[in-house]
Amino acid sequence: MKTIGMLGGMSWESTASYYRALNEGVREACGGLHSAKILLHSVDFAPLEALQHADDWDAIAEQLAAAARSVQAGGADFLMLCTNTMHKVAPQIEAAIDIPLLHIADATAEALQQQGIRRVGLLGTSFTMEQDFYKGRIASRYGIEVLVPEQDARRLVHRVIYDELCLGRTEPASRQAYLGIVTDLSAQGAEAVILGCTEIGLLIRQQDTSVTLYDTTAIHAARAVALALQP
Ligand code: GLU
Repeated sequence: MKTIGMLGGMSWESTASYYRALNEGVREACGGLHSAKILLHSVDFAPLEALQHADDWDAIAEQLAAAARSVQAGGADFLMLCTNTMHKVAPQIEAAIDIPLLHIADATAEALQQQGIRRVGLLGTSFTMEQDFYKGRIASRYGIEVLVPEQDARRLVHRVIYDELCLGRTEPASRQAYLGIVTDLSAQGAEAVILGCTEIGLLIRQQDTSVTLYDTTAIHAARAVALALQP
C-alpha cells in the first residue's frame, strides 16, 4: 500500500472527514484491521485565510510548497491538497515536489465524465466559483460546462463556508439556503451540482435533495484510496 500525503487543516473540520473517508475506504477494500497509510501536514488556517482575503497568493504558495516538501521528505508516495480553493496554487506546489499531486478538480471531473454529465453547477468559495483555476480546468480539460450561482447567492455560499462550516457550525437556515441554490442551478440546466468546497458535505447531503451532488471530499478520498491500493 502506498503512503498518502495530505496537506490539511484548511479547515481541519474537512480534514477530519478526509481522515475518516480514507481509513473507511481502505478498510472496505482490504477488510479487517487494515487502515490507510497517511502522512498529514495540518496547517494553522487563520494566517493562510488572512492571506487569501488579502490576495497574497504568492505567500500562500510559498508556505504550502514548503509544507508539501516536508510531506514528501517524510516518505509520502503522492500528495493530496485537502481543499478546493488552495488548488489556485497547485502549479507552484507541483513545481516544488517530485511526487504526484492528486488534483481535486481532475478527480471530480473524471467522476462527472464517467456519468456522462455535460453541464454541472458549482458551489464553493468565491475564489473557486469566480476564478478560472478550477472551473476553467473542468471546462477546458474535460469539456464540461460549469454554472455558478448569481452574485448574492455566491456571497452567501462564501460567507457560510468561512463563518460557519470552517468553525464547525451547521445552521438549519444555511442548509435551506444552500438547498435553494442547488435547486436554482438545476432549474438553469445543471444536471448535477459539485460541492466544490471540502466542508459543504458537512451541511448538505444527497438525501436532502433530488439533484445529484458530487461531494469533492468523498470523491477525492475515494480516488486516493484507489491510487494507494494500486499495485
Ligand atoms: N475547504 C475549502 C475548500 O475546499 C475552503 C477553505 C479554503 O479556503 O481552503 O475550498
